[in-house]
Amino acid sequence: MHAIAIHGGAGAVPRASLAAEREARYRAGLERALDAGYALLEAGGSALDAVCAAVRLLEDDASFNAGHGAALTRDGAAELDAAIMDGRQMRAGAVASLRHVKNPIELARHVMEKSRHVLLVGAGAEEFALEQGLTLVPNQYFRTAERLEQLDAEQRGTRVSDLVPPAAQGTVGAVARDAAGNLAAATSTGGMTNKRPGRVGDSPIIGAGTYAKNGVCAVSATGHGEYFIRAVAAHHVCAAVEHRGLTLEAAVAELLHQVLPALGGDGGLIALDHAGRIVMDFSTEGMFRGARDSNGRRDIAIY
Ligand code: ASP
Repeated sequence: MHAIAIHGGAGAVPRASLAAEREARYRAGLERALDAGYALLEAGGSALDAVCAAVRLLEDDASFNAGHGAALTRDGAAELDAAIMDGRQMRAGAVASLRHVKNPIELARHVMEKSRHVLLVGAGAEEFALEQGLTLVPNQYFRTAERLEQLDAEQRGTRVSDLVPPAAQGTVGAVARDAAGNLAAATSTGGMTNKRPGRVGDSPIIGAGTYAKNGVCAVSATGHGEYFIRAVAAHHVCAAVEHRGLTLEAAVAELLHQVLPALGGDGGLIALDHAGRIVMDFSTEGMFRGARDSNGRRDIAIY
């Protein structure tokens, strides 16, 4: 049994304002990433390779809030966060506040596999990217007209306070189980529109936005990151499965519909358990998502 699930962010655009053409674009992007990740699993590739490939494609897709097309800080720059976790030995790599690394998920993987560290940020992370021969680009590469417009609207609107951040849209993530039973999770984001420079969300925080442990589950989250950090969301789900015997569905539901709302937070997550069963749930209006497995399941959904 092999399986993969992906997300392209929670807090989806209200149904009424998601034009058919835009919806088709989101769906096509999700399908591409889902099928690329699945093809690797189908060919005997690892869960780690599958989540990395899927997230990389979503980073390159301007529709999503990661890599090219990332949400912008209040200064109009892109600052990117990403993490990857390999359920085999619970190895992890993460990066935050990147301004020039074209594919943050690749750098997160290099941190995991080629450094002695788990989390690198800012200039030090980019120095490491240079040493590793990864592609660096001007910050301009990440900024799209749509994100600049969004930032402008945000700054002219009512939600400019640091205390009431707007819902981010389009963070990307993937979880997978390969035929050998290994689990992996990956998440990548530009964070929240109009964020303060230097703000780091949950995505690169192991246990908050990203987590994987073989025999238990793999999780990638999206939503209002500050709450996911405070709830140690991804780890909460895995710990509930491992130590309290909850099903993955119940653990995810508890986190999204009890723990986070009690703090005032919302969002969604994708997860899969040791057997490859996929759970995708959210407390926002929607979540861009897709799932595919070797039992023939293949679906893409937004609401
Ligand atoms: N969780 C991400 C963050 O807070 C944003 C998102 O998922 O849309 O950085």
